[in-house]
Amino acid sequence: MSINLADHDMNEAPLPPAKEITVRSEFGDIIAGLGLAAVATWFLAQAIMLPDYSGTAIGAADFPKGLAILLLLSALSLAGAAVWRLTTRHSGESSTIRRPLRVLIGALLLIAFPTMMTYAGYYVAELLDELTDDGDPHPELFDLACEILAALDSGPEPVSALLIGFELSALRVLGHLPLLDQCVECGIEMTAQGRVAFGMLAGGVLCNRCRPGKPKVVSLSGTAWQMLRDYSRSDASRPTVEPDRRAYGEVRGVLNQYLSHLLGRRPRMHEYLGILAS
Ligand SMILES: [Zn+2]
Repeated sequence: MSINLADHDMNEAPLPPAKEITVRSEFGDIIAGLGLAAVATWFLAQAIMLPDYSGTAIGAADFPKGLAILLLLSALSLAGAAVWRLTTRHSGESSTIRRPLRVLIGALLLIAFPTMMTYAGYYVAELLDELTDDGDPHPELFDLACEILAALDSGPEPVSALLIGFELSALRVLGHLPLLDQCVECGIEMTAQGRVAFGMLAGGVLCNRCRPGKPKVVSLSGTAWQMLRDYSRSDASRPTVEPDRRAYGEVRGVLNQYLSHLLGRRPRMHEYLGILAS
């Protein structure tokens, strides 16, 4: 059986009417080329900052660098060829763009992509790497990490809430969960009256009697303290709503400092988590 392509094309249903604009191909190529070059440059800058433990061999950081360079060269050749056609008067072709508004929105989304990344998945991986030792398996923590990565990918729960839940769960599984219901020094039950003192080095909240003289103490609002307690629970009664923004900022700050003290240095991804609070 043979197919007559000419007949096939003629029988094709005509496209429904839609808004169209016609531009010279060279201008379209230059705009697209420069936009892609900007994205590739950002990608390359990020890839260069990745740690590479492979020495002179090809390592994991070399692949994103290679991809970024290929994209940059392709984008520049697209824009460069268009400029060459314009300057040598080889131009003359035009392109018709259907639904230009949708094309423009698509292009803007592409350019906005770098700033919309949350780094949340990288942070989960970094915590797993830093909080555990080689040859010391923690199956429960591994399952938790798989759950949160799946939830980050598709779940309706806010990223900020998911990360706090994971951080506190990881601390609980590894035996580093700060004491939040009782004073870490004298064991007295804490009540939600006014602000609550949290001792970074003490490893939990401090009552008014035990607080004086303790180093590295931060003051938490009652809402933020309650939020820490809610998210440190292991059961499914953990809240799944968007955290109160101000309390979230406080909790994010306490967890950042607490984890930094625990690890002896600031996790690399902490600087990127700030955008979750904005
Ligand atoms: Zn006390």
